[in-house]
Amino acid sequence: MDKELHGIAAAPGIALGTSVWWRQVEVTVIKRSISASAVVAEIDRLTQAVQKAAEQIELLKEVTQTRLGKEEAAIFEAHLSFLSDPTYVGEMGNRIRNDLQNADYVCSQVTEEMALMLSSLPDEYLRARSADIQDVGHRLVLLLSGKQAFDPTLVKSGSVVVADELTPSDTIQLPEGIVAMVTKRGSKTGHAAIMARTLGIPMVVGLGEDLESVHDADVLIVNGSAGQLVVNPDANEQHIAMQAVAADKELKERAMAFANKPAMTKDGHRIQVFANIGGLKDVKKALAHGAEGVGLFRTEFLYLENIQWPTEDEQFTAYREVVEAFSGNPVVIRTLDIGGDKELPYTDFAKEENPFLGHRAIRFCLANKDIFKTQLRALLRASVYGDLWIMFPMIENVAEILAAKQLLSECRQELAQKNMAVKDDIKVGIMIEIPAAAVMADILAKYVDFMSIGTNDLTQYTLAADRGNELVAPLYDAVHPAVLRLIAQTCKAANDAGIVVGMCGELAGDATMTEVLLGLGLKELSMSASMVPAVKERLSYLKMQPAIEVAEAVLKLENPSVVKEYAAAHLTC
Ligand code: PEP
Ligand code: MG
Repeated sequence: MDKELHGIAAAPGIALGTSVWWRQVEVTVIKRSISASAVVAEIDRLTQAVQKAAEQIELLKEVTQTRLGKEEAAIFEAHLSFLSDPTYVGEMGNRIRNDLQNADYVCSQVTEEMALMLSSLPDEYLRARSADIQDVGHRLVLLLSGKQAFDPTLVKSGSVVVADELTPSDTIQLPEGIVAMVTKRGSKTGHAAIMARTLGIPMVVGLGEDLESVHDADVLIVNGSAGQLVVNPDANEQHIAMQAVAADKELKERAMAFANKPAMTKDGHRIQVFANIGGLKDVKKALAHGAEGVGLFRTEFLYLENIQWPTEDEQFTAYREVVEAFSGNPVVIRTLDIGGDKELPYTDFAKEENPFLGHRAIRFCLANKDIFKTQLRALLRASVYGDLWIMFPMIENVAEILAAKQLLSECRQELAQKNMAVKDDIKVGIMIEIPAAAVMADILAKYVDFMSIGTNDLTQYTLAADRGNELVAPLYDAVHPAVLRLIAQTCKAANDAGIVVGMCGELAGDATMTEVLLGLGLKELSMSASMVPAVKERLSYLKMQPAIEVAEAVLKLENPSVVKEYAAAHLTC
């Protein structure tokens, strides 16, 4: 091989393909002074470019909506809103008038300044908007200069797209058949990474300037699970990669045979295997992979993809559509989990030293009752269209459950006064993702209909290892016996109380741990859609009693690093 590069694993899977640089057409912007009499014509030129850009973005929005769904298309709403933002386009007009400079120049200046300002913000979501404004600015400058944009037809099937960074309008133009994406910049929560996961193709981001050493038509192996890129592998490496791609495909196909079977152990124990979704766009994939319901609908995406607080009606429609799509099967909808690493561009969050230990999720909602009640009313209204369960995140004590339930019953009364239908027996549950909640699970269980264990947060809080920090990644281990003991304690409490206990953290989709999770007493496992068939397959080989024995043994292991090895070696199927 020529080189091996390491970046951030943004979308899982392995691919082998040929590189194609996705380059934006460069335009050199020259600063020109204009006379006072030319101001009107220059502003007119800018206005026409803005109008044309709006038409192009509207079109992109429509195409995206048809191809990927409404929520994916929402990003272009944000682009359109930049075009009507007085601090953006308005400011360009001011500068043409006051500084007597040409439209192209003021456009690139104002864009650069706003992008710089956004990129310096601490919040990852807002930083990602910096790429959006650059996208809009580039479009305007191209239109002003009369140049054509990059021609996506150069990207053939089997290509690995290589780019500095992929903007939302780039990703939507990506032709079918590309096998992977790699970029210099970008983050796991950026739009391109979300898109790659939606399309099911591997992606590595954050490869840095070393990516410049990749040329068009180089052969690349992209490992989106390990964040690794191999440039011009030798014949043997290519052969191994091809085998890995084929093995991955074969395993997926074998597992797919289980997608439409009910999830059941060999000795007849029924376990629910559900999917985690971020919105309606994920439903099709969840159903196609055999999800028997939704174990976690992360509603924050509805908020994150919006440019203002989503209204009750907007939310009602979104929840109703998802609930209806699952035709009577359970859909667990989590109330807003905002704060921590997820901030909204349209609200001011107080700066916190430790946002993950701060004012997030249920804490934010209980302090912002109007926002919370808007969501609760939308959920209650959608309840009549299927089997909708309501789940509160980041619960730490009984008082929070009681306060949330009190607001829920107020919302019920408000809707009853308006003669709006609401189901009587909606299941109300909590996430167990704070160690205190796991320890107190027997008490909390008295107040809820179900519990779902969020191992992503439970792991970081139990082990004091930030889930997003590569430096402590080796310590962040969801199968550490300390975490598994908290899971065991929660399962026991829920099973003793006769309520449903599930898991919706990433661990639920790890088929190598399915036997242990079964043995610990979980009754429902919820995961990304693509993992559903493999977990159903694994369950079909397992029996309950041996699973209990393996789980008990794992809880006593002294060394966290041998848990997986032990589980694999003692697999009873
Ligand atoms: C979790 O913490 O395990 C979880 C499912 O929630 P999120 O990943 O959205 O924080
Ligand atoms: Mg969580």
